[in-house]
Amino acid sequence: MKMTKAFELDRQFSWHPFTQMSEWCGDGEEVLILARGQGAWLEDEQGQRYLDGNSSIWTNLHGHGHPRLREALLTQFDQVEHVSYLGTGNVPASFLAKELIDLWEPGAFGRIFFSDNGTTAIEVALKMVIQYWQLVGQPERTQILAFENAYHGDTMGAASLGGVSLFQGRFDHYRFPVRHLSGLEELATVQDPHQVAAVFIEPGVQGVNEMRLWSEGMLAALRAWCDQYGVKLIADEVMTGFGRSGHMFASQKEGVIPDFVAVAKGLTGGVMPLAATFIREEIFNAFLGTFEEQKTFYYGHSYTANPLGCAVARANLRIFQEENVLERLQGHIQCLQGALQQLQENSPWVYQVRQYGFIAGIEIRDTNGKRFPVEKRVARKVCLAARRHQLLTRPVAGDVIILMLPYCVTPDEIQLAANAINQAAQDILE
Ligand SMILES: *Cc1c(COP(=O)(O)O)cnc(C)c1O
Repeated sequence: MKMTKAFELDRQFSWHPFTQMSEWCGDGEEVLILARGQGAWLEDEQGQRYLDGNSSIWTNLHGHGHPRLREALLTQFDQVEHVSYLGTGNVPASFLAKELIDLWEPGAFGRIFFSDNGTTAIEVALKMVIQYWQLVGQPERTQILAFENAYHGDTMGAASLGGVSLFQGRFDHYRFPVRHLSGLEELATVQDPHQVAAVFIEPGVQGVNEMRLWSEGMLAALRAWCDQYGVKLIADEVMTGFGRSGHMFASQKEGVIPDFVAVAKGLTGGVMPLAATFIREEIFNAFLGTFEEQKTFYYGHSYTANPLGCAVARANLRIFQEENVLERLQGHIQCLQGALQQLQENSPWVYQVRQYGFIAGIEIRDTNGKRFPVEKRVARKVCLAARRHQLLTRPVAGDVIILMLPYCVTPDEIQLAANAINQAAQDILE
């Protein structure tokens, strides 16, 4: 590995997320500085190429450098790059809000609240639902439910909803009270459901929790429970949104309309940081009144509804429409299923593969099916070794390797990804 200027400066001045920096800056670490991307492939400064196996942390949809996204970005830049959404509007945001709402059946959602990332999209829903119950005269609805091992983002609010103790345990004392349920069964033990404000859930699959799938019908059953007690259902589709499930949204795959939906990662096809919270009209209406009534939702960020992001998001939605993305994905999902099945048969270390649409988690264990000790960080080592087989990806908590490819991959590239994991596991474990 050659030391470039960017490489040196990074190790000297930058602090990376979720990263032990003494390792990153240590001699043994394979620091990778990415310089270019085209389609499903990324390239480092030396021109070494890698298949983008986790779609740049689950954001990219149609590949890097997509001409229509590029065009939308540059065209909007020539109009205006950013204006405030506090007290003024902008053209692409106006159209995007309508186009997002049109992705659901008529009347499902009434409003879009824009923000910058998945965490803020969740935070918006959280503050909104608390205020909503106060506004409609049910202030006793204060309890928030979420699920064990859930992940909803990293700020204190969103992190309080999360249940991954490795990330949050240190801050336990400062978290606001959230009841974490182990599953649907535990709903029966909720003492007074009429004091519950909302339930947060990642529909279909919990990404950070080792890609664990909810059982079929789980979301619909949760919806029914919420309807029975008037509880609001808040779907975190930050990972599953925009086709990852094989449908536009995982909630749609599960046949459910939540009360709020948070989206971010794929909203701009992985180009710009932009997020949106879908809100039912009935909830929006509760916030209407005279200024003196103090019903205003006081929340926002400097870059809310950034025009560049909104313009690119609109182009992303047009790609879905005009390039039959969801239809084409069905073949990819089949192909991935075949490749994963083969991987499980061929590799003694692949304990289980979990697939939800075009999302996959590959669990590595020893040949007796026992988990490796956490401190061995086997999946991490396998992912680092996979780079030498042209695959770039990372594990989530536990020894689970994520395979979440851009939608523009070919069947050969899906096979390459599976082979790379097989070979990398051999390199590390044999
Ligand atoms: C990534 C993610 C988030 C947080 O989104 P950021 O854009 O990283 O803030 C929240 N929920 C889920 C399910 C996610 O996958």
